[in-house]
Order: sequence, then C-alpha cells, then structure tokens
Amino acid sequence: MRDLIIRNGRVIDPSIDRDEIADLYVIGGRVSAEPANSGCEVIDARNLVVAPGLIDIHVHLREPGQTHKETIETGSQAAAAGGFSSIVCMPNTDPPADNPSAITWISDRARAGALVNVFPTGAITKGLNGEEMAPIGSMVQAGIVAITDDGHCVQNHEVMRRAVEYARMFDLAVLDHCQDYNIVGSGVMHEGYWSSVLGLDGWPRTGEELMVMRNILLAELCKTRIHCQHLSSGGSVRLLRDARARGIQVTGELCPHHIALTDEFVSSFDTNYKMNPPLRAREDIEALIEGVADGTITLLGSDHAPHACFEKEVEFDRAPFGILGLETELALFLTILVHRTKAIDIKHLITMYTVNPSTLLRLQKGALVSGADADITLIDPDLEWTYRKEHSFSHSRNTPFDGWELKGRAVRTIVGGRTVWSV
Ligand SMILES: [Zn+2]
Repeated sequence: MRDLIIRNGRVIDPSIDRDEIADLYVIGGRVSAEPANSGCEVIDARNLVVAPGLIDIHVHLREPGQTHKETIETGSQAAAAGGFSSIVCMPNTDPPADNPSAITWISDRARAGALVNVFPTGAITKGLNGEEMAPIGSMVQAGIVAITDDGHCVQNHEVMRRAVEYARMFDLAVLDHCQDYNIVGSGVMHEGYWSSVLGLDGWPRTGEELMVMRNILLAELCKTRIHCQHLSSGGSVRLLRDARARGIQVTGELCPHHIALTDEFVSSFDTNYKMNPPLRAREDIEALIEGVADGTITLLGSDHAPHACFEKEVEFDRAPFGILGLETELALFLTILVHRTKAIDIKHLITMYTVNPSTLLRLQKGALVSGADADITLIDPDLEWTYRKEHSFSHSRNTPFDGWELKGRAVRTIVGGRTVWSV
C-alpha cells in the first residue's frame, strides 16, 4: 500500500466543520497533516468532493445461510462500488446472529473476504422471536455495535424495555424495525387507494407509528438512545420531531426508495416495489423530505436486501420484502435531496452518512482528522449516469431502479488508505 496525496479536492469533513479546496495526505493508512516524502500515489480530485468514508447503517449481507442471495464478500463489493467504506450488517441471517460465536464468525469472514469495514449487529431476542433476550453482554464482547431484531419487531413492550435497559449498561444503541403485527396483519403494501384498487392487503401507517411512539416512550423512560429504522410514514416524522424537541434520545432513518417511489408503482405488480415498510403516498414523501431538511431525520441507510430472482418472481403477496440499495442510495439521495428538491446541501448529506452514524453507534470512523483511519470517499456530485443492474456487484438483481438516470455518485472508495474500488 502506497502513501497518497489527494490533490485539489473539495475536502468536506463535517466532524470539524471543514469545507475547503485542499490536498489530503495519507501515510501508512492514516490521514496525515503533512505529505509523505516521496514515491506516493497522487490522485487528482479536482471537481470532486473528498469526504470521510461513508457509513451505511442498514445492510443485509445474508451470510451465513442465504449465500445464494449475497455473501459478505459480494455485499462488501457492492458497498465499495456505492462509496461505502463501512457497513453495518443486520442479524437476520440463517441462523440469526443472536450469540457471540455467530458474531465472531461474521467478523472473521469479513476480515478474510470483505473489501470494506463490516460492523455486525446482534439480535435483541433469541432467534429474533421477540420473546427471550439474546446474550447482549457477551455479544458486546464479541464486537457488536448495536442490537436489533430487524426484519422483525419485538411486540412485547416489557421485553423491549428490559433489552433497552440492558443495552444502556453497555452504551449500546437499540435499532428498531417499527411494525405492530396486530395492526399490519398480512399487509403487503401501503393501505390506501391503491391497495383497494389492486385488492392487496394493506399495511397502514399506524402499524409503524405505534412502534415509533413506543420507542419514544421507552427512550424517555430508560434515558437512552433508540433508533427507528427505515421510516416510511409522515406521521412517524411528526412524532419524532416532537420527541426530539423535548430532548428524547430517539433518531430516525430514511431509505431512498421511500422518497423515490410511491405505492402507485405497485400497480405494475412488479415485486421489486415490495418492501417492508411499504412504499407510501406522495404526502409521506413530502413529510420525509421535510424531516430530513429540518434535522428530524438524521440518518440515511439503504436497507440493502438482496433476494434471488426465483424468490422475487412470484405473485406479489408471496414475494419476499426488500430490494438492493448499496449501489444506488448515494446517487438517489444526491439526485432527490440535493439536486431536485434542494432540501439539504451535500455537506449535510455527508454528515448524515458519517458523523451521525458514528455518533449513534460509537464508531471510530467518519472523520478526516490527522491520525484517523484513511477511509475516504471521492464523490462527483454532478456526474450524470445511468444505473444498470447487470453491472451490479451484488449477487442479486432485485432493484426497481434499473435504467434510472441519476445525478452524482461516488467515483472512488478508499479503506485504510487502499483504493478498494474506482470508476
Ligand atoms: Zn427492517
């Protein structure tokens, strides 16, 4: 690995409120205040943004158990191609990551084959069944950065309360997939006009909002941080805004499909429009974007959820939930949030992908200060390009964004001073 000089880029490091045209130096895999003496690699970053390596806090790598969908290796390649130097993987593997040896296995696999940093999460409950707490303390020792039953949601509020209190002892964030099973029932799409027209079971906003409210109450009661994953409802944004104004440690996350698409797309019966929580209405999109603009929603993630073609190519109500996300999320957010709606600027977007996830999960990442790991993402914010799923590094192809024209993308991803991907 050679030392680096990244020349003439717009260096944006929100951790120290830095935004200027400058050179960035890397020596021995770390950011340096002084340039290397000689023989280093020079990267021309004119007209590019030089950002701390982006972090995606919501990724499904499918290993162990479902390697026909994705592996830690292929998922990490997709992450690198999307501009992500770090990803946080969900525990709903097969078997679930609900014990320390599963966490150690994932970390070992990642060390051996992943192009980017992989931070594992552990389950809240054993087998993700919502009943009995997983051994959280020993999973912390094995290296988890949060607990979540993502894909599932703990319905018993007492079990959730105990898990939140236990997590607090380790200064560990609890991430929650907010879904009230009784209200949602067999819902496969947003409950509204289109679910009636199409004759599909509805998944109402209330099913999410009830659990967002539960999490707000528990975060207040237990005085610790709870993070609401992949918010889809405008009502969730309003609840979160009020709670945060009262100083409660609750955060929310946005995935690109929830602002790029509405439930109307489901009328094609294409199962690449089936996700959980579901695509919603125009007014939800407006509320979500407003929530990002005013700082109510502070984290971005993909909910990268690979599924094989044979699994998705079935009737809509029988198909699994979820789509790919790692290689399109940055471009979709740049296109929608920065260019089209101008809800936020690129510095704000980078904050949501670097400082905010590192703060939530206590990661020693997301900054370009001297001595920091040289995890760096080079972004061309104005590059116009067309996403083609056949070029994806993922093992799967389940995306509704094939052929979309997007503006802005990562052009190089550096992890620990080593370029792991470039256009
Ligand atoms: Zn989920």
